[in-house]
Amino acid sequence: MKMSRFLVPTLKEAPSDAVAVSHKLALRAGLIHQEAAGIFSWLPLGIRVLKKIEQIVREEMDRAGAVEVLLPTIQKADLWRKSGRYDDYGAEMLRIKDRHDRDFLFGPTAEEVMTEIVGAHVNSYQQLPVILYNIQWKFRDEVRPRFGVLRSREFLMKDAYSYDLDEAGARESYNRMFVAYLNIFARLGLSVLPVRADPGPIGGDLSHEFMLLAKTGESMVYADDRALGLPAPGVPPEDRAELQALVDERLAPYAASDELHDASEYEARVEEGHRMEARGVEVGHIFFFGDKYSRSMDVKLDGPDGQPIALQSGSYGVGVSRLVAAIIEASHDEKGIIWPEAVAPFHVGIVNLAPDKEEVSALANKVYNALEGAGRQCLLDDRKIRAGGKFADMDLIGLPWQVVIGPRSVASGELELKNRASGETVSLGFHDLIARLTQGSAGN
Ligand code: ATP
Ligand code: MG
Repeated sequence: MKMSRFLVPTLKEAPSDAVAVSHKLALRAGLIHQEAAGIFSWLPLGIRVLKKIEQIVREEMDRAGAVEVLLPTIQKADLWRKSGRYDDYGAEMLRIKDRHDRDFLFGPTAEEVMTEIVGAHVNSYQQLPVILYNIQWKFRDEVRPRFGVLRSREFLMKDAYSYDLDEAGARESYNRMFVAYLNIFARLGLSVLPVRADPGPIGGDLSHEFMLLAKTGESMVYADDRALGLPAPGVPPEDRAELQALVDERLAPYAASDELHDASEYEARVEEGHRMEARGVEVGHIFFFGDKYSRSMDVKLDGPDGQPIALQSGSYGVGVSRLVAAIIEASHDEKGIIWPEAVAPFHVGIVNLAPDKEEVSALANKVYNALEGAGRQCLLDDRKIRAGGKFADMDLIGLPWQVVIGPRSVASGELELKNRASGETVSLGFHDLIARLTQGSAGN
């Protein structure tokens, strides 16, 4: 992509109402545009990051045996009346009437819609377990939308729902999602802690939140620091006991957010040198709630003995758009964003210092074509602005690699390669540069 044809509206200063670093940088790097309080448009760089996160979430859901569907954003109020949540949900629900004066709402979550689909299309217990997910925009009329897409009113969520014959099966589905979440956050390069959580209005008796440690976090997290930095578990084991052992092992070190923190247990179980107290951002939340919705919505299947049974379920959310901000919270410096390779909007930024000079542009295009041809996504800065502005913008938008090409590169045949994260710069000839950026070493 050529920057002269792209839209990257970078800003020197963030608007004064942006306080969180991720909000400031998302605006300054031209990722998002605010439409109204808590409602954003996604600009070209922002949508590329959002789609990459979405794809990683999708791949890990698929790998764990969940199946993708797409539910509507607008839901019937009657479904929520059936489950009993229509009145309970309160002011966070955006209620809508159609032209016939019928009640609808903009979905804040989708337990009711998914449970009804399962009731209509899953006919036999032999089809269980079923885990369905969708990645769809949600709306919650938050009292205090803030921090940009970290807490917005409209946001992209991956929400999965599991349906099992019995509680042991449902716990297995819960564990599969638990492992998938560890894989997702590891692939995003994030250090995320699973903490036990209060199931809240969704209900149920088993729940975990996945907390990213970051200064802007709205909760406090208390943990044994040995719970951090564990490797991604990979595909969840098929064997139920093996899967449970894996989850138990990950949950063994103490970790709780303020709601369920038990100071005396913490002090008893974690030696002083390993106590970690930090702020956390909730990036995922999983719940087991038994037959709550299948019972209230009267979704039953014939069990093995012919008797109707209510399904055992859980729901599993990841804040896909929140993750864009969460990753910036976790990965930036005073110059701007530092995207992890896996979600960077482009892998390489190519800075053409003299777009007016034919030989310089020819060399920049040659680098661009060689890298694109090898599958590396490049953003070529061919704008006719001063070099200082180009360097500042490249650092701000945070692509993992920068290649600087000017008249001197043409004369010497040496190109400058900079790693955004380490700041390290090396001079390389054309072939070495392409080799460096297209082999394993270009990864992180
Ligand atoms: P929070 O406690 O942050 O308000 P929640 O517990 O109400 O979130 P869940 O119902 O658990 O949220 O939703 C699943 C996931 O969706 C959350 O873990 C979070 O990542 C994301 N999410 C929830 N509310 C928002 C929001 N207002 N803006 C962006 N993402 C959100
Ligand atoms: Mg939650």
